[in-house]
Amino acid sequence: MTSPAEPSRTPTLAQVWEVVEELWPASLAEGWDAVGPVTGDPEQPVRSILLAVDPTMAVVQDAVDSAADLLITHHPLLLRGVHSVAASGFKGRVIHRLISSGTALLTAHTNGDSAIGGTSDVLIRSLGVEDSVPLAPADSGVPGEGIGRVGELPRAVTLADFAERVFGVLPSVAGGVRVAGDPTALIRRVAVCGGAGDSLFDEVRASGADVYVTADLRHHPASEAREAGDGGRPYLIDVSHFASEWLWLGAAAGLLHRALTESGFQVEVAVSGVNSDPWDFILTP
Ligand SMILES: [Zn+2]
Repeated sequence: MTSPAEPSRTPTLAQVWEVVEELWPASLAEGWDAVGPVTGDPEQPVRSILLAVDPTMAVVQDAVDSAADLLITHHPLLLRGVHSVAASGFKGRVIHRLISSGTALLTAHTNGDSAIGGTSDVLIRSLGVEDSVPLAPADSGVPGEGIGRVGELPRAVTLADFAERVFGVLPSVAGGVRVAGDPTALIRRVAVCGGAGDSLFDEVRASGADVYVTADLRHHPASEAREAGDGGRPYLIDVSHFASEWLWLGAAAGLLHRALTESGFQVEVAVSGVNSDPWDFILTP
């Protein structure tokens, strides 16, 4: 805590990295993931931080325009090994823009998902479920850490009303919200996974969920889940990947700001308003 005799100060990037590691430890990330610092000088001062889902050029430009010293994105820019960051490719252009503008980049991906207060935790709370447990608990971590969440609404609602609630809490995107199931069916037990969640169907079925909210549901896993459930539970609600993870940013910004303030640092933390959902419009029957 800051004492009155010790005024809050501007942290270095290395000091912010330490606080981020406490909030979203790299050890919670999946083995295939690439999290942590991407660009930046550990000694550079960080007065302002911007959070976003994707490290697209529009998001990087938003960070530059808002004079952010550090951009934290949920998705990695460089998930797989590269042999060139020349500005002739789009990822190279992003790297060049970051370095030439002095903007550091850091990724908090599946470590941000698994943490208590992670993407699925924030999503299920925003839908009205206060107490939830992970669908797939983390191998190394404290109880409550892991991928996905499942828990119960205070009272049963119809699938149609619940879908309206999902639509209402998420940012507006072209693809909207797709639902599989009887709109009049009553549901109470809710499973969610922020981002692509069709690898968790076994866990969702085992959890006894009435409905599963996730993103990027492909034809075959969704079709087979409906067949296995004989057209019944779990009903499916397919949302935008970007939208399902964007909700986390506000909570993460609040958490990071509080942790930095408690460490005696003065930093502004904000969420980018750039919509990085890749879809622009949709045709429906
Ligand atoms: Zn994602």
